[in-house]
Amino acid sequence: MNDINTLYTVLIVDDDPGIRMLMKHALQDKELTVFEATCGDQALQVFQKVSPDIVLLDVTMPGMSGFECCQLLRSSDMGAQCAIVMVTALDKPEDIETAFEVGATDFMTKPLKWPLFKHRVRYILKANKTLLELSRNQSKLSKAQSIARLGYWEWDYKSGFIECSAELLSMLGIKNINTSVKYRSVLKCIHPEDRRLFNSAFRQALRENKSYDIEYRVRRADDEIIIFHDRTDIIEEYGYKRIIGTLHDITSQKNTEKEISYYAYYDTLTKLPNRRLFLDQFEASLSMARRRDEKVSLLFIDLDHFKNINDSYGHHVGDQVLTQTASRIKNSVRMSDVISVGIDDSQNKVARLAGDEFTVLLCEVNAVDNVVTIAQRVLDSLSQPFILDSHTVYITATVGIALYPDDSDNVQELLQNADVAMYHAKESGRNNYQFFSEELNVYHKNRLSIENDLRSALFNNELVIYYQPQFNGEDKEIIGFEALLRWNHPTKGLLSPDKFMSIAESSGLIVPIGAWVLEEACKQAHEWSQKSTKSYRMAVNLSALQFSHKNLSEQVLSALEVSGLDPSLLELEITESAIIQNVNETLKLLVSLKSLGINLAIDDFGTGYSSLSYLKKFPIDTLKVDKSFVDEIVTNKKDAAIAQTILQLANNLGLLSVAEGVETKEQVEGLTNMGCTQFQGFFFSKPLPVELIDLLIK
Ligand code: C2E
Ligand code: CA
Ligand code: CA
Repeated sequence: MNDINTLYTVLIVDDDPGIRMLMKHALQDKELTVFEATCGDQALQVFQKVSPDIVLLDVTMPGMSGFECCQLLRSSDMGAQCAIVMVTALDKPEDIETAFEVGATDFMTKPLKWPLFKHRVRYILKANKTLLELSRNQSKLSKAQSIARLGYWEWDYKSGFIECSAELLSMLGIKNINTSVKYRSVLKCIHPEDRRLFNSAFRQALRENKSYDIEYRVRRADDEIIIFHDRTDIIEEYGYKRIIGTLHDITSQKNTEKEISYYAYYDTLTKLPNRRLFLDQFEASLSMARRRDEKVSLLFIDLDHFKNINDSYGHHVGDQVLTQTASRIKNSVRMSDVISVGIDDSQNKVARLAGDEFTVLLCEVNAVDNVVTIAQRVLDSLSQPFILDSHTVYITATVGIALYPDDSDNVQELLQNADVAMYHAKESGRNNYQFFSEELNVYHKNRLSIENDLRSALFNNELVIYYQPQFNGEDKEIIGFEALLRWNHPTKGLLSPDKFMSIAESSGLIVPIGAWVLEEACKQAHEWSQKSTKSYRMAVNLSALQFSHKNLSEQVLSALEVSGLDPSLLELEITESAIIQNVNETLKLLVSLKSLGINLAIDDFGTGYSSLSYLKKFPIDTLKVDKSFVDEIVTNKKDAAIAQTILQLANNLGLLSVAEGVETKEQVEGLTNMGCTQFQGFFFSKPLPVELIDLLIK
């Protein structure tokens, strides 16, 4: 077809050459190109060739009639877009009807009014062009609508039917060609829970001319549920009211929103609310409790040594433990079976804050006794073995509890308080619960400030080592020293280990500090042995944490190398609890330490497990008899008996024994009688700074 803006093509079909000529003459114009055909068959051929914009088609022709020809033209390739004007001498209404039935655009009657003829043709050409554009736009629109998943409907006031767009029907999965539907069948498609919403919005629109903007769920023909956003306008046109609704299928958008909000508010592993949602819930619970004058309890639950599970079995097992933990906690806080029937426990919220930290909010539990019952239930349920795919794992938990309004009235503080209580519970041996109290808070703050100061103590040279001499029983000569740590705190003065050692342990700071002590003490021992004619043994304490640290052997080796100390002069003091934790690992480590040529001592012997089997198994050189036995050796027969047994045991196993904390002459005599050969204690000497030892060994 020619470009419609610049040139139109006209096809004249008439068996009368006179008419053809007159028409051609009348249409003379530089914008119009005219072709002719004398019969229907020729018309079809020329039509294919020139694709005219308009066909002026005579009705009565020999052979194929104009109507027949029109029908054939319409069904041909380009036929739909062309304007076809039937030209007839008969102006019978049936003919006009037939003309439209076969697809004619318009008709003209002969004799033609020549002055108007050209204008009429031009008018039809323009109208057809507009029509074509409209239909093109409509098809574009409907394509766009189906891509955007948009549909629309219109309420017919007269019939009460709802006219639906084809896109809407396809969104609903309806193959029906009939686009008029009854209100009742529309309502049937809508999700039962949303029907009331839709019904009242629609009724109101009808009654009060109120447009609406709502979302509701719809059941598709294939039973799938989709979500519509329905935006409805009421317009008036030519005095008629119309209700028009635009429907947008927002199912996938809603699903994405849901998914996003799920990830933002839930922990994907345990499916519990995460910290964010927990804080929101906590805030809401507090507001409600404030209004109702109720209490809220917060349980802060932390698994004990959870890291060990991850380290020894892998994260896969750790994840399984966490998932089971979540469901055990949830079951434990179901209170109806614990406290009283009929209590609403739906307000109780379990969340996973992070890692192995969980929280429980108890909202309708006002009695402390009941909080205790639940805390204990949580502890009990978690201490049951975890039976997993490949392993059976044991774990315990520690719980800190804070109460609203007793401990604080705001979320952050309550959370902090529960955390403080939890730490306190950890310190008092784990696998238990503790309530928050103000004294606890002060204690905790003090600990925090010490921990803070301790971090810089090493770099600020605030740490010093005191040395306590160890003596030989026979000649009362110094045979060695124990290195004992002191902290020269900038404001608190000289602190002994009981003020900071547990903080050093719990914060892990003991690892770098211990390494420093080890190296310092080795250097000192080497220096003293160089200075004097005798060589002195140096005993260095090792904390359990250092002992479980991977490169302890390397650390010891490096201290020996850096200091130049003869390995046989170094003795590491280990507590029973440190070595009993993992017997197989310990044995390997002790053997590798021994292979460096150093000595190993068991510290505070008798206070821990005192297992004879490990004494036999482990390559140990020395037992240190704990001060608690030495203290009572003269006055308490039982303690005396224990001390004697320990010393005999040491003798029989060929181990050295050192009695610690010896304060009196009587104790020395008693111990000597029992076979003890080495002594350490205030009776001989207190731990002393380097300068004083320097004088002592001169
Ligand atoms: P410990 O290893 O049992 O050290 C002996 C403690 O008893 C020392 O306390 C010492 O001063 C004290 N003592 C010695 N003789 C007597 C006595 O006759 N009477 C009394 N009442 N006490 C006596 P200190 O120095 O306060 O150390 C306490 C604990 O801190 C040590 O107990 C040890 O477990 C730990 N510690 C000290 N230095 C270090 C270190 O460098 N690393 C590690 N990991 N722990 C250390
Ligand atoms: Ca010691
Ligand atoms: Ca000791």
